[in-house]
Amino acid sequence: NYLAEKLRAASLGAENRQFLRNHQTGEEITYEAFFANAERMAQVLVGHGVEPNDRVAVQAPKTVAMLELYVATVLAGGVFLPLNPAYTAAEITYFLNDAEPRVLVCDPTRERELSPLAKQAGVAEVLTIGADESGTLVDLRDGVDTGFTAVSRKPDDLAAILYTSGTTGRSKGAMLTHQALASNSETLKDAWQFSADDVLIHALPIFHTHGLFVATNTTLMAGSSCIFMPSFDADEILGYMPKATVLMGVPTFYVRLLKSEDLSKAAANMRLFVSGSAPLLAETHDRWREMTGHAILERYGMTETNMNTSNPYQGDRRAGTVGFPLPGIELLVTDPATGVPLPQGETGVLEVRGPNVFAGYWNMPEKTAEELRGNGFFITGDLGHMDKDGYVHIVGRQKDLIISGGYNIYPKEIELLIDELDGINECAVIGVPHTDFGEAVVAVVVTQNGADVSTTDIMASIKGNLARFKQPKHIEFVNSLPRNAMGKVQKNVLREDYDAIFK
Ligand code: ATP
Ligand code: MG
Repeated sequence: NYLAEKLRAASLGAENRQFLRNHQTGEEITYEAFFANAERMAQVLVGHGVEPNDRVAVQAPKTVAMLELYVATVLAGGVFLPLNPAYTAAEITYFLNDAEPRVLVCDPTRERELSPLAKQAGVAEVLTIGADESGTLVDLRDGVDTGFTAVSRKPDDLAAILYTSGTTGRSKGAMLTHQALASNSETLKDAWQFSADDVLIHALPIFHTHGLFVATNTTLMAGSSCIFMPSFDADEILGYMPKATVLMGVPTFYVRLLKSEDLSKAAANMRLFVSGSAPLLAETHDRWREMTGHAILERYGMTETNMNTSNPYQGDRRAGTVGFPLPGIELLVTDPATGVPLPQGETGVLEVRGPNVFAGYWNMPEKTAEELRGNGFFITGDLGHMDKDGYVHIVGRQKDLIISGGYNIYPKEIELLIDELDGINECAVIGVPHTDFGEAVVAVVVTQNGADVSTTDIMASIKGNLARFKQPKHIEFVNSLPRNAMGKVQKNVLREDYDAIFK
């Protein structure tokens, strides 16, 4: 079993080494105990009819048992399919009908609601894992003896299907092979110099590529250990820092941790801070460096590819960039219209090729053909450029690019200017249909509590820094921006909301 062997290799001969500390229970779990449980769970899965390539779907709270289920599914030759606990019954119905899993594992508190839906979608078995590490799957696991011979799987076989976050439209199931997952965590382990001495603070969700593959696979691959927290909690994380070496987070982790007066002291002996999943503001990077002396290492990846680029471990970690293509991964910046590579420095669509790239979208052959070229390059849909030193800069998504009067406008440039102003909390800049210009720039702005900021104020402040064609033709004030279950701003929703402003 290609992936399972790689995940286990680093801890062979050191089975008594600690793999995980469960924040909720205080329990310390060795590699031996973790894999023994995963093997018992694999037996349960096979006993419930899971055959090679069968999907095992799970929508459950973040627990050690759910992590065991991931490894158990791989051992059993199945395909792990985690779903965001925030998804509603209607959303789950879509995913179950689309993915046709053999087994659904859900939170016991949702079993009654989801069981009939699962049965209707043809799911044979519904099992449970609860937030307190209990549930029918856990009971079944405890009822079988240890030991399981891993089902043979080759590098090109599927290990997981992860649905994308649904920021630009309906979530798509990315088919990930044993080789894609194994190669990327081996690359990251080396690039970020993970070793058996590392202790990772694991506070990310495990239904998403960041917490599941970047954090967990890298830990396993390096024989490191982790502190496993059910969710983000600034005080608890600060408390753990003196005993830990690495934190992986999304930008909001860092923004929130910066509010603490204890940060400087707590972070003193950490080795590495990694950020990704969304753009880290240069301001956050700079303040973090001032407070802790550490430069946050920003990297760029996506569900379909795992990680593509990373700032260097040794060398200059540059704010506002996502660093260099990782070893073994090629990155091109191409003309969106023709697909032809652009000269260095010009902005275009990022395309990537390497062993990390997915095998296509589940049940979406047309979408796969549109985005995955015959020569192996995946068209990411992200726009960016490479500077003269080779650092990649991301400027936004292709779908969010505004074309007004024939000019390309990158919303990020305008957003950064507005975000900086006094009294502004955040904003999103979008293009909406306009009879003369094709599209017109609209800024949707959230002001800080009680701040009295007007359209005139904003326009007066940004005018000097923006060519006329980039200036918003309308500013809309709202209480909050629409976000999806991963916390990403949904510009497609905003575009629909303000579709008729200039019609
Ligand atoms: P969908 O594909 O369903 O619209 P999504 O693209 O948000 O949703 P994910 O795979 O979770 O789903 O997110 C990957 C995207 O996140 C990337 O394509 C990129 O736009 C963004 N991203 C990830 N890391 C960074 C980063 N460091 N800086 C800027 N953007 C990033
Ligand atoms: Mg995407």
